[in-house]
Amino acid sequence: MRNKRALKARLNSGFAVDAISFVWFSFAIINSNFKIEPMSRIRLLPEILASQVAAGEVVERPASVVKELVENSIDAEARRIEVSIRRGGISLVRVVDDGCGMDRDDALLSLERHATSKIRTAADLTAVATLGFRGEALPSIASVSRFRLTTREPAAIVGTEIIVAGGRIETVRDSGEAPGTQVEVRSIFYNLPARRKFLRSENTESRNIEHQLHLQAIGHPNIAFALVRDDRIVFQLPAVSNLLERIRDLHGNDLVERLIPVQEPSASRRVRIRGLIGQAGVSRQSRDQQLVFVNGRAIENPVLTAALREGYHTALMKGQYPVTFLFLDLDPAAVDVNVHPAKREVRFRDPASVREAVVETIRQTLESGRRQWQQQFQKPIDSGDISPPVPESSFPSRGNRPDVSYLEPPPEPSSVQTGTGNGEQSIYPPADADRLAATSAVRGVSAEQIARDNKIGSQQFQIIGILNKLYVLMENQDGLVLVDQHAAHERILFEELRRRMEAQGVPSQRLLLAQTFELAPRDAEWVEQNSATLQKMGIGIELFGQNTFKIDSLPTFLEVSDPVTFMRKVIDGLKTASNGSSPLRLGEEMIAKTVCRHAVKANDPLGYLEVEKLINDLLQCDLPYCCPHGRPTMIQISLTELEKKFGRKV
Ligand code: ADP
Ligand code: MG
Repeated sequence: MRNKRALKARLNSGFAVDAISFVWFSFAIINSNFKIEPMSRIRLLPEILASQVAAGEVVERPASVVKELVENSIDAEARRIEVSIRRGGISLVRVVDDGCGMDRDDALLSLERHATSKIRTAADLTAVATLGFRGEALPSIASVSRFRLTTREPAAIVGTEIIVAGGRIETVRDSGEAPGTQVEVRSIFYNLPARRKFLRSENTESRNIEHQLHLQAIGHPNIAFALVRDDRIVFQLPAVSNLLERIRDLHGNDLVERLIPVQEPSASRRVRIRGLIGQAGVSRQSRDQQLVFVNGRAIENPVLTAALREGYHTALMKGQYPVTFLFLDLDPAAVDVNVHPAKREVRFRDPASVREAVVETIRQTLESGRRQWQQQFQKPIDSGDISPPVPESSFPSRGNRPDVSYLEPPPEPSSVQTGTGNGEQSIYPPADADRLAATSAVRGVSAEQIARDNKIGSQQFQIIGILNKLYVLMENQDGLVLVDQHAAHERILFEELRRRMEAQGVPSQRLLLAQTFELAPRDAEWVEQNSATLQKMGIGIELFGQNTFKIDSLPTFLEVSDPVTFMRKVIDGLKTASNGSSPLRLGEEMIAKTVCRHAVKANDPLGYLEVEKLINDLLQCDLPYCCPHGRPTMIQISLTELEKKFGRKV
């Protein structure tokens, strides 16, 4: 009652009562018997406890300690960073740098929560140029370990040593270490047994640390890094001038030879992309070598992961991950780095444009890799010598099927054969002009153009024979090449169909009897949304009634006995593949899934001309080195490798 009177008095007194206070008053009236406790239940946490809580997010495991300390060293412009660990970092992590160091006041301040030298105002937060900015790492780490910091500025006569245990400063004194900073973190989580239980085996923790340091080393080739594990040197990386050298030092020459430099997308883009990526067909079973840096920071981001997959698309086997050392540079204001306490994730202001830039860059880069790869197919013998080196008997005849025809009916035998002219296959390859005509018939481009672009006029490889009715053996400048004829044919067919789909659509054939079938509502909706793409793929499907469809044509190259079962399978397969992809990708997916049936069966015997044409056509593909499912089409065994195997070279 008193409250009511008070409210009335307040209203009458002419105070402006805003909505919130009105609600508060009403609340107080309804709960007039509510008693306020003598002491508030809400309390400010003691500083150390607050740091331990923050540490829960920042310091997950010893590798996070390494990450934070190394990032601090990089921000301090160190030229050399040495990390030593014991027992997987559980017993000790020590990071020593030769960076700018700190004076005593700063060293003490650095251990306070939210103390940072890297940002000052809210505006700075929108354009963070350093790896750190939250001012949380050092106090968090110090609150869950036995911590020792020694630091000295280059010009200072003495440095400072601070010892902290579980967040309590125990000692502050002068120290005589070299300029730079050294942080020792011992017995991580010694004061939080529950957290300690979550640590994995020493080996696993060591591997995590090693991976973390790899990331930093790849991100900063101009800094020397060393990792010492239980007194053994794991790696010592000198400072180098470029990324390629750093990758070579870390992963060896074999990997470097299979990487291609990224082709910059058009200059107008707001994202700059540089780095190196694995050629088509180079992949790993884990994401360990799928590295992406955004403004110098190694990050994980679902948009980018999806973009990499889409960029690689048919160049990646199922369940495999690409190898990428990709660096995205964009306006700091276009990325929010403050979304994850360990700064592992970022949020893009315009994710779609970043995604598109990455997809396009990967595609272009993979296709540029083709030119490099084609150069390996230089003719190993004198130019002018065009006779096949093997007798015809190595190539079992295929009767009257003289050509590997992909979509068209096979050309007349005379159009691809030279020599005897009696329908028998010649032991000589066809004259260049005929060969070009045969190739161009499939590609739909002029023979002259191909000759100009790719110098097919001079044979770039020499076929030796066929192994096990499947592998074409060839000689090139580097040594021996083995081609999987089935995979090669799949790739050629795939690209041919894709070209058709983009241009006029895949040729389709009417079914003798159109068939109708019903689909579950969600499948029906999917078909309706994608019907234009399905039409382009040569599938004639249209709505026939509520959730009922009529199918009346299918791509010519398909041999399908039951169109309805086939359609259901296609829909199932594509639905899962299509979330978020463009219609073009969807079409590619569909082609990749169906192409296999039509490709030369593994042990279909081919004639010389067919093999030669197959290889020529493969060399014309955008991505010749792997089939549409990402399996390699060919393997090169270099002369050096052979010499090693035969003990000629050690
Ligand atoms: P942040 O890196 O987010 O600023 P930290 O808690 O990691 O927060 O570090 C706090 C501050 O301590 C940094 O801003 C920096 O000024 C200083 N600092 C930390 N490590 C080093 C180092 N290795 N060399 C020089 N200064 C350092
Ligand atoms: Mg930091």
